[in-house]
Amino acid sequence: MSVSIVTIDGPVASGKGTVARQVAEALGFHLLDSGAIYRAHALACLSRKIDFNEISSLERQAKALSLKFLGESIWLDGVEATAEVRSEAVGMAASTLSAIPQVRAALLQRQRDFAVAPGLVADGRDMGTIVFPSAPLKIYLTATAQVRAERRAGQIAKQRLAAGESLSAKQLIEKGKPPTIEGLLETIRAQIQPDVEAQIRRRDSQDKSRTIAPLKPALDAIVIDNAEHSPSETVAVVLSLWKLRLK
Ligand code: C5P
Repeated sequence: MSVSIVTIDGPVASGKGTVARQVAEALGFHLLDSGAIYRAHALACLSRKIDFNEISSLERQAKALSLKFLGESIWLDGVEATAEVRSEAVGMAASTLSAIPQVRAALLQRQRDFAVAPGLVADGRDMGTIVFPSAPLKIYLTATAQVRAERRAGQIAKQRLAAGESLSAKQLIEKGKPPTIEGLLETIRAQIQPDVEAQIRRRDSQDKSRTIAPLKPALDAIVIDNAEHSPSETVAVVLSLWKLRLK
């Protein structure tokens, strides 16, 4: 049985992770979150204090990476490390280390090994260009940095609220916001938005400008600007494109 592959590439916070997961679920395919592999490698290098100039040690760590995905949780060296792997600091370190050809080469086969029957949805930066160049459906998801920063800042605001961050009703009213949960969320989101947008722009620029496997749409990718779409609308578009490909 041949393996069907859908690739979903795109910049930071373009929604590719959410869309890839839902498309994989709808099609009954496996899922590859390739960014998590680069992040786990970066976290392992940071934890072991490997010098980022020591290419042979970085490469050795990439080859020896002990990584497991269990549902949405990520295990590194036998320890659950999902939150650390997902942090922006680790994302930025992954962006720096993933520009090193020896690191990319050491992690390539590990990504290709995910392509098993009945199929795979792979998300990342170079899924359509380098890792699975003959995939029958390639998507490149994008939106402006401002829109992506609004979304990411909204997610972080929700996490902070869940972790107990608060402002008094008086403080909210002074900031011109309603003294409600929505007012609090919006206040936190607006506070962090500029920093989040600056981080997104920095990481995108690093990922687009590297010489090896730079972030760009494959020549045969379908580019979807999802600024105006919810994740489920984007999922519906990808699933219809997949049906068309099957015909
Ligand atoms: O997608 P995510 O934000 O988890 O990826 C973290 C970093 O890993 C990216 O900014 C990028 O530098 C790197 N990456 C990559 N190639 C991939 C996936 C991620 O270089 N296929």
